Amino acid sequence: MSVVVIGAGLAGLTAATDLAAAGVETTVLEARDRVGGRTHGIEVAPGAWADAGAAYLGDRHTELHKLLAGLGLSATPTAMWGGSRFALGSGEKTRAGRFPPLNAVALGELFDLLYDLTARVRPDAPWRTPDAAALDTVTAAEWAAGNLRHPDARLFFPLFLGEMMAADPASVSVLHMALYLRSGGGIRYLNAFAGGAQQDRVLGGAHQVAERLAAQLGARIRLNRPVHAIHQQNGRVSVHTGTGEHHHGDAVVVAVPPVLAQAIDYRPGLPAPRATTATGRGCAVKVQIVYREPYWHAHGLSGWSVSATGPLLSTVDDSPPGGDAGVLTGFVTGAEAYRFAALDPAAREAEALHQVAELFPRLPAPVAVHVSDWVNEPYSRGCYAAVFGPGDWSRLGPHLSTPHGRVHWAGTETSTEFFGLMEGAIRSGHRVAAEILSSHETARRKR
Ligand SMILES: Cc1cc2nc3c(=O)[nH]c(=O)nc-3n(C[C@H](O)[C@H](O)[C@H](O)COP(=O)(O)OP(=O)(O)OC[C@H]3O[C@@H](n4cnc5c(N)ncnc54)[C@H](O)[C@@H]3O)c2cc1C
Repeated sequence: MSVVVIGAGLAGLTAATDLAAAGVETTVLEARDRVGGRTHGIEVAPGAWADAGAAYLGDRHTELHKLLAGLGLSATPTAMWGGSRFALGSGEKTRAGRFPPLNAVALGELFDLLYDLTARVRPDAPWRTPDAAALDTVTAAEWAAGNLRHPDARLFFPLFLGEMMAADPASVSVLHMALYLRSGGGIRYLNAFAGGAQQDRVLGGAHQVAERLAAQLGARIRLNRPVHAIHQQNGRVSVHTGTGEHHHGDAVVVAVPPVLAQAIDYRPGLPAPRATTATGRGCAVKVQIVYREPYWHAHGLSGWSVSATGPLLSTVDDSPPGGDAGVLTGFVTGAEAYRFAALDPAAREAEALHQVAELFPRLPAPVAVHVSDWVNEPYSRGCYAAVFGPGDWSRLGPHLSTPHGRVHWAGTETSTEFFGLMEGAIRSGHRVAAEILSSHETARRKR
């Protein structure tokens, strides 16, 4: 049997690894000149790396942990000690811990409402949630306008959603918000560092997972091969790239984000779309400001900050362990990411440095600034993941992982477990490989 895998992100590489291990002739076609997709490392000091893409993982990310162990990689704790900085309207404040200086009752009520929503959504099939139709017609912004009365809850909600999902409340359906928060382990788990989804990072950078999987797959990986068309005929599949190549196989795995999967020409055509005009991009720009060392520790600060105005709506200490560099990562998320991404590089850097100087006034000048704009990355089209808008779960959900003949689907957006995260991508890769092997076995028995 031969299989063509499209996309060398974690989903495609996991699927290819499982298929190759089962003796399947496997080819991976990747549009970019690198593997890893939404994981990407930048060298911030000689031999020291920071994550321009995905970074954090927790103990419930069991498939990622298994992969790390198998590849000789390990996790390192996210540093989170010292005070936090907040700029939430009434001047800047330093506080112990991460709870913002806002009305605690109002925030408690906001989280109670969100808990209720996440408890209601059906995690394996959100479109079958009893009141799915109602939840899927309302945006999170409309929900907030109708449910959040206290100004502090209204102020905090978009910041929370930006940090959790990189989503603008105006573009995400309530059903999707509920599913995302539930599939990631619930609000408490997703939002937590120690004991939660952001407890650890991959030592040396998450990009190494893809690079090591790719090294094992060797010549099966073909870079710079954007796929334009997938045709099924006479029990075979042919895959056509922008470089004029044609690859043939018994099956295909499409492991690219839904908006990009939708742009491929399928013959015969798909029975249902992979994305609609309501499907948005997660919008995040990561700004990494590199210092010789994490100077904020000497001031009793953790590097964590939350601001009501951009560009950097939150910052976190992403310094590599070992003291080679201090890295403050700023997250520009939600609607603010679109504004910031449209600026020229000098203006982006100036705005980011101005804000950091206000939040952390006594830092020396940085040695480098790296801006990673995922909003305009042609082969990601947003991050952390696709943002399903009103109607999307009802329309797309039932078909997301259902094969179209010999075309099978993977990618973090096809996983209702840990949707949008590395863990979801890896689980989808295992799922699709098992699906292909099992359908091949069934066909063999029938012969
Ligand atoms: C800034 C940022 C922060 C994040 N933070 C976290 C985090 O802390 N923790 C976490 O778990 N997750 C995080 N994520 C999400 C995580 O990166 C993704 O969920 C995961 O990497 C998705 O993997 P994937 O294989 O499904 O898709 P991708 O990584 O997008 O892989 C798809 C691949 O397909 C390729 N491709 C696209 N179109 C074509 C085509 N037509 N032909 C051929 N190839 C194509 C792409 O180049 C890409 O390599 C973050 C992402 C970003 C960008």
